[in-house]
Amino acid sequence: MSDYLTYVWRPITGGRHAFPVAATKSPPESTVDAYCGAQTEASQLHNRSEVDWIREPSCKECWRILAKKPS
Ligand SMILES: [Zn+2]
Repeated sequence: MSDYLTYVWRPITGGRHAFPVAATKSPPESTVDAYCGAQTEASQLHNRSEVDWIREPSCKECWRILAKKPS
């Protein structure tokens, strides 16, 4: 089972976090959880600007969790 397209990175306030792909299909007003436990409104996963990508550092906790996921 491949991890291809099972998660996406999104720059939200506080950093670039990894979210399950299913989170991007959640209703805009619902709350979604990053792998590290950070929560945001689902609408925040869409329409991020290039500045957001540049400004927000990658979340180390999301990296750590995804690196340990069995492939
Ligand atoms: Zn995170």
